Amino acid sequence: MKFNTKTIHGGQHHDPAYGAVMTPIYQTTTYAQTTPGGHKGFEYSRSKNPTRSALESAIASIENGNYGMAFGSGLAAIDAVIKLLEPGDEVISTSDLYGGSYRLFTSIFEKFGITFHFVDMGNASNIEKYVTKNTKLIWVETPTNPMLNIIDIKACAVISKKYNLMLAVDNTFATPYLQQPLDLGADIVMHSATKYLGGHSDVVMGVLAVKNKELADKLYFIQNASGAVCGPQDSFLVLRGIKTLHIRVQRHCENGRAIAQYLNKHDKIETVYWPGLENHLNHDIAKEQMKDFGGMLSFTTKGNNYNEAIKIVEKLKIFTLAESLGGVESLAGHPASMTHASIPKKEREKTGVVDSLIRLSVGIEDIDDLIADLEQAIG
Ligand SMILES: *Cc1c(COP(=O)(O)O)cnc(C)c1O
Repeated sequence: MKFNTKTIHGGQHHDPAYGAVMTPIYQTTTYAQTTPGGHKGFEYSRSKNPTRSALESAIASIENGNYGMAFGSGLAAIDAVIKLLEPGDEVISTSDLYGGSYRLFTSIFEKFGITFHFVDMGNASNIEKYVTKNTKLIWVETPTNPMLNIIDIKACAVISKKYNLMLAVDNTFATPYLQQPLDLGADIVMHSATKYLGGHSDVVMGVLAVKNKELADKLYFIQNASGAVCGPQDSFLVLRGIKTLHIRVQRHCENGRAIAQYLNKHDKIETVYWPGLENHLNHDIAKEQMKDFGGMLSFTTKGNNYNEAIKIVEKLKIFTLAESLGGVESLAGHPASMTHASIPKKEREKTGVVDSLIRLSVGIEDIDDLIADLEQAIG
């Protein structure tokens, strides 16, 4: 089955009870047994729920994995991955990763004796310097937020195999339509399904997909034992979202490209960060490992003025000033005053988050309206 068919049918079957084409929302905690242990595969909805199971097999299918797991949020999914580790273990992580992942690693898991090394992976060979006998996991996020840095997943997989480490990839920004890390050698792929998989800004969820059965069993155990699962209604929404993933992402990419090109020519704009631009750092790697370049982009204005950037995001009318990304509607954010406000200016500027940086999650509205909106806001 090809990807555009898998989003609709992958891992799916009509509901056995009445033949419902769409998996129903099994809003139930428990399941009748005919004799103790005599059930149809479902006992209690933390362990397994039919709506969640349908979503989990769809996730496995679209990521070319064999097993999928769904959690109450993206961070709950990451939490489950780190719980594979033990005190004394070390993780090598992308340096400019999602702020919530950084907080989870440093504020929660370091307390339990796990060490995290945050490494610039723009050149994957940097990773090798941090490998010790205690290293267990490489955590990669690509493209990164908000600078859209690109990391070579295949090169990371070579290193993880050489030292017998696990390689996990946060594939939230790319989506499985654009990038399939398991095929590039990753062991675990993770998504904040809150973003493109759900796609409509109406559900918070996280998912994992893996190929290996032993690893899947360990993650299922953690999913059930820690219990950070998502509910059946949310599972239904993401299952529905995935059915249009391919056409949505196609339009996100088209609109992203048009806006990147528009901004790139604009005389008030200093730099545009979009992996599809030829001068973007590691554009060649993006071209190799991604099918297209997505709808996330960032830009800075000439003069790098903090207040001017705030004015621009306030003036936008179709782009909503909001956190999050990946929905059908366009969103704009100002990292220096929003997502990265708690990081000292000197620190955030090291990674490129300067005062005038604006991040766009380009939606699937008409491109003429989006460009007209940017035009009136930037002037
Ligand atoms: C949003 C996000 C997360 C966290 O997901 P939640 O669903 O908000 O918990 C992790 N990684 C990336 C890249 C994200 O954008």
